[in-house]
Amino acid sequence: MKKRILIITLLLFIPIILVDESITIAQGEDKVLICSGKNSKKYHSKRCSGLNRCGGDIITSTMSAAIKDGYTPCKICYR
Ligand SMILES: [Zn+2]
Repeated sequence: MKKRILIITLLLFIPIILVDESITIAQGEDKVLICSGKNSKKYHSKRCSGLNRCGGDIITSTMSAAIKDGYTPCKICYR
């Protein structure tokens, strides 16, 4: 009897786990890299050559947050 309860509990939780994972993946697609240097106004999709000139720290943000802060897409990694 206890085993059956365990199986039912697992079946109830599996959909939640699957939904959770798809949310994580969706957020992962939106990640961009920003140079914190004051002259930088570009966001990057990955560690591209444009970031090599970054004088400050390279921080990870989301694309929507970067656009909201006035950043524009890098011409090297977004073309
Ligand atoms: Zn770039």
